[in-house]
Order: sequence, then structure tokens, then C-alpha cells
Amino acid sequence: MTVIDRLLDREQDRFKREHPRSFADWQEGQRHFLYGGPSHWMRRWAGGFPIYVDEASGAHIRDVDGRDYVDFCLGDTGGMCGHAPEAVTNAAMRQLRRGVTTMLPTEDSLWVGAELTRRFGLPYWTLTTSATDANRGAIRIARMITGRPKVLVFSGCYHGGVEEAHVELRDGRVGMRNMIHPNGVDHSAVSKVVEFNDVEALERALSDHDVACVLTEPLMTNFGMIPVADGFLEALRDLTRRTGTVLIIDETHTISSGPGGYARLNGLEPDMLVAGKAIAGGIPAGIFGVSQEIAERLWVIVPKVDPRVRQSAHLGIGGTLAGNALAIATMRAVLEEVLTPENFERMIANASRLAEGARAIIAENRLPWHVTQIGARVEIMFMPEPPRNGADVIAARRGDLETLLHAFYMNEGILVTPFHTMFLMCPPTTTEDVDRHTAVFGRFVALLREAGV
Ligand code: PMP
Repeated sequence: MTVIDRLLDREQDRFKREHPRSFADWQEGQRHFLYGGPSHWMRRWAGGFPIYVDEASGAHIRDVDGRDYVDFCLGDTGGMCGHAPEAVTNAAMRQLRRGVTTMLPTEDSLWVGAELTRRFGLPYWTLTTSATDANRGAIRIARMITGRPKVLVFSGCYHGGVEEAHVELRDGRVGMRNMIHPNGVDHSAVSKVVEFNDVEALERALSDHDVACVLTEPLMTNFGMIPVADGFLEALRDLTRRTGTVLIIDETHTISSGPGGYARLNGLEPDMLVAGKAIAGGIPAGIFGVSQEIAERLWVIVPKVDPRVRQSAHLGIGGTLAGNALAIATMRAVLEEVLTPENFERMIANASRLAEGARAIIAENRLPWHVTQIGARVEIMFMPEPPRNGADVIAARRGDLETLLHAFYMNEGILVTPFHTMFLMCPPTTTEDVDRHTAVFGRFVALLREAGV
């Protein structure tokens, strides 16, 4: 048993002792749910089991054992508006009383559509019930208009439950990401995968003209944070244009860059843009936008409907509840009152403060770790330099230290995304919240020193 294993045992014992009610709830959950919690994602917490939430408010969560946490996980971005933000809660309550879902638009949708175009730049939008569904819809349209079968993604990506994106490079071939089961599907028939920041590999992969779309974040946030190299996005835009490949930019996480996301801020012009999670304040909703050109090509294949023709084509894009009145009302509240330029300014300042605090501790202790920041989002990684691609992460990732840090955080009242060490700020996050993290991170480093790690 390594020193780190021993320390982790200690933290998990402490966690169990201090969370008797959550532990009992988790035991009971095993009787009713396939993987213990209502979603299988809820089982990944490093304490050994999740805390059960009593109440979440602003940047804090109180659990059923009465303990308080500063929440930097924020529902893995779904809670980026802060928990129970007043504007969203009021909009939701108003709309709940006026009807949730009718298969008919409300006039709020007109405001939302205009605002999405103003923020993100693309002229036409569709709502879905999740970011996953928005990605699926965008891929479907890309295949329809190009007549090509394949989706190209970068190794280490995550775009939700989109099968085509469940791949990574293994020995130069398409393999399954993170041990996801292949489900009897030959992924190499539907996907191509190359390393992020590798222009030559991208050029080779697109040269066969069998790729309908490249689906990517503008920089990668789901395998630690992988910054984008200078010139890569320009090359990506140029190569996709030259090969007639649709460029789908997924801003579900990188919306942390600012009110219009990373692409807008950096002058990247995607053919389609996807977002979700926080976009309606945590009420399930996703969006995708398309360019004028994509819309016109699509309208040729699937014309706007003539209700006299009963058999007119539909898109086959899911979501009976998509664009419902509740999601529209809360999306309006988010765009109008919560994810505003002023709030972004504060969130980004707090993210910088957290990053600086962590960097100072790393530097003082001469640790081979680094910190990256993208707007309101920060990542600590246990490797000396930011990775250039998924292969760098696979080669250098310290899963044992990550788990230990996360278990320690939970015992010290800090929540981060359980999948890697990612911190997100919301409008109510305070400098005190950030400083609490800095103090806890300092104690973690001291713990490692004492143990001789
Ligand atoms: N895109 C990105 C970049 C994501 O990180 C995720 C989820 N982590 C999704 C899409 C899918 O979001 P959802 O699970 O809410 O559908």
C-alpha cells in the first residue's frame, strides 16, 4: 500500500464518520437505483459516497449532516448561475403557474432568439432538452447537408451521451474513451479521432472528404484543461472550410470565457454552436445555432413546413419538451439578469484570485503542478506543464493524487467536479469562498509534505 493509499483511507474514514446520514442514505439508495443514486454520475465522489443535499443556495451547499460546502463544482456547470438565483427562481415560479409545456411557442422565445443571435453571432437557433441533444441535433444536420457519415473529434473530448464522441486515440486507432463500453458498435465506421492541436493529423483526416463535421470545444475542458495552441483554431477553421466539413463548436463549458463564449471572444466563426447546462439556470435545456449558409442548405433538404402536406419531413431531432415555456422563461432570466457582463467580470476576477492563490502555493513548494484558467473556470493539474493533447494527459495524469485531493476537499468543505480538479465561479461566489479554497489547498500540500510524498 502506497503512502497516498494510506492517506486516502484516512480521509475516507473521516468522511464516513462525519457524514453518517449521507452514508445511511447512500446504503438505502443501493436498494432502489441501479448505481446507488438517481444518476450514475452521482457515484463518482472521492469521499467514497456522495453527500445528500439538504439545500443549495448561491455558491454554497448544505448537506443532510448539516455541513456547509463552498461549491466550485456547481453541478459540473449546470449550476453556474449559482444555486436558486432569484431571477431564475422568480421566472420559473411565474411560468409554472402559467403552464410548462404546450408544443406552442411563448412570446418570451422571441426575446431569447434575438438575444442568442446578439450574443453568439449565429442567426438561427433550435432549443433541445440538453447539451447532449443539441450536439446530436447538430451532428444530424451536418450529416444531412454533407451526405458524409463521419464525425471527427479530438482525443480526450467529452460531449455528453453522443456515441460518436465516446472515442479516443489508442495506439493510433479509434479506441473507447475512459473505458466506455463500445456497445457492439464499430466506432471507426462513424468516428475519426485525432490529437488536439495537431494540424497535420487533422489535415490528413479531413482529406478523405468523409467527415461530416468536426465537433470540438474551442479548448478542451473535460480531460483536465488542454489549452489551444497558437494558430490551431485558425487552421481548424481553414481546413474545415476547404474540405467542406461543418465546424461545430461546443461552448457548454467554455461559456465560462464570457457572455458570448470563447468563439465570440476570439473571433472564431463556427458553422454551428452548441451550449446547455447553465443556459436556463439548471432547468434542462440545450441550444444550437446555425449559420445562414447551413440554414439555407438545410431548408433545401427539409423545407419549412406546409401544414396542408401531412407527410412533410421532420428533422428527427429529439425533444418533445424542447423549447417549452418554462425553459424559455428561465433562459430569458439567465441571459437578461444572471450571465451578464458585470457578473462575468466578478466571476473572472474570483477565478483569477483562486488561480493565483493556488499558483503561489505550488511555486513556494516547488511542486511539479500547474494551474490553467479560462474566464470563470480554473483547473489544477498534477503535471508540470499544460498538456498539448489527450496523450499528454494519459501519460502524466496522477489519478491517485487527484482522488486524495478530492477526498480531502470534501472533508474540508470544498466541492469540485469529481472527474478532475476543475473550479467554476458563479455570480454569488465571494473572495472569502475563494480564500477558503486557498487555505485548504495549502493544508493539503502541508499534509503531503508531512507524509513525505
Ligand atoms: N458538451 C460538453 C463540453 C460537456 O462537458 C457536456 C457534459 N459534461 C456535454 C456537452 C453534455 O451535457 P449534458 O450531459 O448536460 O447533456
